[in-house]
Order: sequence, then C-alpha cells, then structure tokens
Amino acid sequence: DEFLDVLRKVEHGKDLSYEDIVLLLKTDRKAEIKALFKAADEMRKKIVGDVVDIRGAIEFSNYCKKDCKYCGVRKGLKDLQRYRMSEDEIMEVVHSLHDIGIKTVILQSGEDVWWTKEKIGNLITRIKKETGMKITLSLGERPREEYEYFKKLGANNYLLKIETTNEEIFNFIHPDDDINVRKECSRYLKELGYLNGSGCIIGLPGQREEDIAKDILYFKDMGINMIGIGPFIPAKGTPLEKYPTGSVDLTLKAVAVTRLVCKRVFIPATTALASIDSNLQADALMAGANTIMLINTPPKYRYNYQIYSDKNMVDLKSAYDAVTGAKREFPPYLKIDMEVYNNATNAEK
Ligand code: SAM
Ligand code: SF4
Repeated sequence: DEFLDVLRKVEHGKDLSYEDIVLLLKTDRKAEIKALFKAADEMRKKIVGDVVDIRGAIEFSNYCKKDCKYCGVRKGLKDLQRYRMSEDEIMEVVHSLHDIGIKTVILQSGEDVWWTKEKIGNLITRIKKETGMKITLSLGERPREEYEYFKKLGANNYLLKIETTNEEIFNFIHPDDDINVRKECSRYLKELGYLNGSGCIIGLPGQREEDIAKDILYFKDMGINMIGIGPFIPAKGTPLEKYPTGSVDLTLKAVAVTRLVCKRVFIPATTALASIDSNLQADALMAGANTIMLINTPPKYRYNYQIYSDKNMVDLKSAYDAVTGAKREFPPYLKIDMEVYNNATNAEK
C-alpha cells in the first residue's frame, strides 16, 4: 500500500519527497486520514512535547494601504469603520495578558503607514520595559532596516505569510505585491535572527494539492519556525466573497503533513479554523498543531477586524474550553498551563 509506505518512511526518519507529500494530501480515505493525523500527533509529541503554547493577539489597527483580494480589511472596503488603538490602549491589553501569565503577545495590523518605525519602536520598548514579554510582530512587508530596528529593540518573532507559493495565484490575490519581495522579506527576518513565521491559505481559487505540497517544501527549505495554515474564508464585500470556503479536511491534512515534513516548528491551531467551528482548534491540536492564539482585541474594535466574515471570537474562555474538553473530549496528554487557565477564566467573569 503506497500510503502506508509513505508513513513508514516517516517512522524510519526518511525525508518525504514532493510526490509523497502530494499523495498524503490527496487521500480521502477515512482510515488513511486517521493514520496521517496519528503520525503527526506522534511526531509533535516526540519533537516538541505536549505543552500547548498560548499567545495573545492584539489587532491594533485595521488601516491598510493594500488591497489583497481575500481580506476583510483591504483598502477597497470603503464602508468599513477604521480604528487605530492608542499606545496606552494597547498597553492596557498587554498588561492584562501579562497579569494572567501569558508570555507572548502578538501585535497585528494592516499595513498602516501611520504606525511608523519610531512609533512601533516605542511600543516595543514599552512592552519590554513594563512586562518583559516576548513580542511577535505581524505588520506585513516593511524595509529590512525597520525589521532590524525592531529586532534590536527586542522583538522576537515575525509573522509574514507567503499565503501561496503558486506565483499565478499569488499575483491574482495580491494586486500590490510581488512574490519575490515577500520571499525576500522572509529571508531578511531569518537573517536578522527572528523566529520566522510563514504560512498559507488553503482553498484559494485554482489552488491544488500540488501547490500546497510546494508550500510545505518551501517552509522547510526556508527554515521557517512558525507555520500558520488556515482555510480560506470568504469575507463580505471583497472580490472573493462568492468563492467557497476552503476545505477543513484539506487544512487539517496540510497541518499534519507540515508537522511530518518540518518537524521542529510551531504550528498554531488557527483562528480561521476556529471561526468555522470552535471544535476544529482541538482537531488541529490532535493533527500536529501545538499553539493557540487568543484574540484579545478589545470588543469595541473586534467587529471591525473581521479579516474574514463571521470570525469567531477566540477569547480566553472559548479557546480554553476547546482545549480542556469543556465542549468535547480532549486528549488529556496535551498540557496547558492550568494557572493561566484559572486566571483566564476568572478574568472572564
Ligand atoms: N497585514 C498583515 C499581513 O498581511 O501579513 C497582517 C494582517 S493579515 C489580516 C493576517 C493574515 O490574515 C494574512 O496573512 C492572511 O493569511 C489572513 N487572512 C486574511 N483574510 C483571510 C481570509 N479571507 N481567509 C483566510 N485567511 C485570511
Ligand atoms: Fe492588508 Fe494584510 Fe489584509 Fe493584505 S492581508 S489587505 S496587507 S491586512
């Protein structure tokens, strides 16, 4: 059996070829999918252990100079109410995360020119000084010199997804971007010593399993450390609003194969999955994922950061419920920090 032969290669520590990866991604047999998830779960356990890492994200501005066709905060959405949190508002959330024991804060925004190098720099400096937390930035493409400046001030990680390595699809969904610039930014981040995050969207128009296999090999070749894989979710008012939602099964298979191929990496159970069904985050954690990202944008702003429509609110309680089994059976071997959990659920009340 070809499929089992590929999984056996994994067991024996052999590298998977492009053809192997395509074969794994294409299976639609229940038993094979189950075996794939199990292999990824074992790899996760062996390589990165049972601890589920919890991070808090603050979407601090929905202003964006770009018009990515899939995105619910793209420049072309004229009716969207734009917001920009102040440094003090952001710090208030940062402190609340720090107080409950979360160790990494993710600062995400559109490509907002108001937030200059200096302003971002001041924010990084304040977070470091007041809390010592680890900082993940997700601000899009910026000049190398700015990435370097943020790193010097103490930023630790950077998330900038390639979205797809298929150049034709990349160009179709990104009217403002060049795939080579995106790849170059990723290389800069690596050179500068960031933990380098990338990822892809599953279910883009015209995308096939072969494309996803190439994405996964790209993550491996580039030495990417964090890999976010989420389904495409149509966002209202965007040029892609009529396209179908990406396949959940294919997303979970891509998560599993990424764990098998890239091994020692952080893989979040993405909010895009959670927004389809909150139980799906637990499924991802049982198919190779090992990180959860909570959305901690203040409620009054959250509604306007619907990068995809009907985004589930991944707040502290619902994410923890998803991992602790309040809503479903969850494997007891996955360890989450109970102190953080208790603090978080108390803070919600
Ligand atoms: N502006 C920064 C950037 O583009 O990297 C950070 C913010 S952007 C909203 C963060 C991520 O949201 C993107 O990397 C993309 O993968 C994801 N995203 C946006 N719209 C999406 C959609 N409709 N479906 C799935 N993912 C989406
Ligand atoms: Fe802006 Fe990022 Fe959305 Fe593109 S994906 S429109 S860069 S926020």
